[in-house]
Amino acid sequence: MQVFWHRRDLRAVDNVGLSAAADGVDEFGEVVPVFVFDEALFEYASDARMAFVLDSLDELRTAYRENGSGLVVRRGDPTRVVADLAHEVDAERVVWNRAHSGIGERRDDLVRDDLAEDGVDVSAFSDTAIHEPGEIRTNAGDPYQVYTYFWKKWRDAEKPRSRLEPESETLAAGSEHDVFDDGDPIPSLEALGFAEPTADVPSGGRGAGLEHLEDFCADDIFVYDDARNYPARDATSRLSPHLRFGTLGPREVFERTQSAMADADGEDEAENVEAFQQQLAWREFYLQVLAFNQDVVTENYTEYEHAIEWRDDPEELDAWRAGETGYPLVDAGMRQLAQEAWMHNRVRMVVASFLTKDLLADWRHGYAHFRDHLVDHDTANDNGGWQWAASTGTDAQPYFRVFNPQSQLESYDPDAEYVKAYVPELRDVPAEKILDWVDLDDDEREALAPDYPAPIVDHSERREEAIAMFERARGDD
Ligand code: FAD
Repeated sequence: MQVFWHRRDLRAVDNVGLSAAADGVDEFGEVVPVFVFDEALFEYASDARMAFVLDSLDELRTAYRENGSGLVVRRGDPTRVVADLAHEVDAERVVWNRAHSGIGERRDDLVRDDLAEDGVDVSAFSDTAIHEPGEIRTNAGDPYQVYTYFWKKWRDAEKPRSRLEPESETLAAGSEHDVFDDGDPIPSLEALGFAEPTADVPSGGRGAGLEHLEDFCADDIFVYDDARNYPARDATSRLSPHLRFGTLGPREVFERTQSAMADADGEDEAENVEAFQQQLAWREFYLQVLAFNQDVVTENYTEYEHAIEWRDDPEELDAWRAGETGYPLVDAGMRQLAQEAWMHNRVRMVVASFLTKDLLADWRHGYAHFRDHLVDHDTANDNGGWQWAASTGTDAQPYFRVFNPQSQLESYDPDAEYVKAYVPELRDVPAEKILDWVDLDDDEREALAPDYPAPIVDHSERREEAIAMFERARGDD
């Protein structure tokens, strides 16, 4: 027998490790798929993500059952749980898809050691990205540090094909095993110690992921680059939690975009499709940044001469978290996060710049808040996004690039539609007043929206202070 351990790959198709297990049935025996709730990771989990995972597991188990097989779901320390299961089913090998974070790699090493003591082999495969970390390198053989060059090589590299057929026959053979008999139910949020999310979390599961993929590739992908920066248009794919938890595979997503490319009407539409593929490459760029620099989770990627003197004012941080900064676009973004466990990319950049460059707060506070709330929180992407915004990451732009939250509002939400959707206090305020909000006097603000705060900081002053803070860190003075 073989055990296949699902982790961030909650699907039975376009799954490299699972396909390899299915291919190995003659040599190693039938496949028993398992998912383990790893309690050591609960401190980094959130209600929203756990709800998404539970939906996804439910659907995955149904998919296996429809193919005559099953999915074992257990809880506890994987070093014990996986080894116990391997022992129970008398497995010759355990198969999984490789992790790239420090925590994941260390856990896998421990599980591998334990299994080795019992004489069970482990086979680990590359599945999370189309081009796994290390595959795309500079001509000198180093991992890329700058996205633009990475993208060109990524785009031109030959792509592995997805395998979309469930390996029904070979996987079904495992159903004979009584390990599936107890049908241990997928636990509830409550049983796992999580609360019902306060946010309206998008549905998990492969079905929901495929629906997003189809809808997007039939329509919005052809105007993606033109529309993606306008949060009110909601014209991005919303695939992020599905790519995060692997309800969709990266190869199948890319292939679907290639069929859209084939359907594109003219160069302009094709360029829009390519702009979307560039986002898939960003995901793989940040994955390799994490894989080769695992300490970026807590440390700056870019080294400065001296420590950055972040200010970390608790009241300002609270106002940012609550969406009460008096900067309408920042507040709308923070409230979208609270309401939907998701935030539009343009606004993520704006709120992250605001936290680090207007409030001069350490990016780690922002990363922690996003980790607590985002349904798509992914160590590599979240960290990459935060460090990019904080000028401590891979951004080729210098530290003095500071987003002006009001100019961003004027450019990307000129009718304040997005703001009004998330900040009810401003719903009846004319858009031009919202665009001018920071320049109005207190009396006018009070008259227009008595319950909405005045700006908590002066952007121009803080911009100067942020630049001075970075110059000190660089040792310029
Ligand atoms: P689309 O625009 O439709 O993009 C398609 C896919 O490409 C996304 O689902 C995602 O997998 C990938 N992608 C898009 N933009 C990026 C990017 N800039 N970096 C890496 N991958 C990208 N993305 C996450 O998946 N998880 C996170 O925790 C996360 N945290 C972020 C934090 C900050 C401060 C910033 C600035 C960005 C963060 N992003 C994160 C990137 C991006 O905002 C989201 O991937 C995107 O908004 C998800 O919506 P979508 O699926 O509709 O994106």
